[in-house]
Amino acid sequence: MRTPVIAGNWKLFKTIAEAMALVDGLKPLVAGTKGVEIVVAPVFTALSRVAEALADSNIRLAAQDCYWEEEGAFTGEVAPKLLKDAGCSHVIIGHSERRQYFGETDETVNKKTRAAIAAGLTAIVCVGETLAEREAGATFAVVETQISGGLAGLSAASLEQVVIAYEPVWAIGTGKTASDTQAQEVHAFIRSLVAKLFGNSAADAVRILYGGSVKPDNVKGLMAQADIDGALVGGASLKADSFAAIANFGA
Ligand code: PEP
Repeated sequence: MRTPVIAGNWKLFKTIAEAMALVDGLKPLVAGTKGVEIVVAPVFTALSRVAEALADSNIRLAAQDCYWEEEGAFTGEVAPKLLKDAGCSHVIIGHSERRQYFGETDETVNKKTRAAIAAGLTAIVCVGETLAEREAGATFAVVETQISGGLAGLSAASLEQVVIAYEPVWAIGTGKTASDTQAQEVHAFIRSLVAKLFGNSAADAVRILYGGSVKPDNVKGLMAQADIDGALVGGASLKADSFAAIANFGA
């Protein structure tokens, strides 16, 4: 049995005070939620304060990115061990916005993922095709390249510290969700690819999240799919009630 993960990516939203208010609102709404790994990813500057607020809760903390070096002359970067130090258990890597606006490549995703794992974090590694790629029939090829590049050289054992997020770029922040069938098709493909690369038991165990306009009213259908093990949620994670309703999809 794979424990579902519901992760909220707050992107570049919320001051520290706003982040604290969101967490205060969220905690009681999910306090009784069992069997779901709930994760929130605030901006870097709010991480350690949010970590303190989450200490007595069932909500875990993620950063939205990291660097691959531990320390050095790398102005502006944040190392995985510093994220651990701030209270993170997870880090999002390779989000499509980082690929699109900040030059993230499969090679940098790979370096970051290895560094995150070495620091004891769980890496939420994002993949997904653009609309043009889907329309060109290249979805599987794109996702295969991103996964085989992003996870290159990892051991099957270290895959325990990896969660894959399939996020079709055309569905992120657009209100367009992949249909349950469209999403399941790609998730099944990803699981078979993980089996090919890392073996059947790693493929059975790895959690594959769907991301792209997940809302309280579409989460149940997505979660009913055999290979969808959770959601990476953007917009709907910015309000306690909508994120809690998603985390409580099984209630
Ligand atoms: C995301 O940021 O990863 C995301 C899926 O955003 P949204 O839910 O707003 O589409």
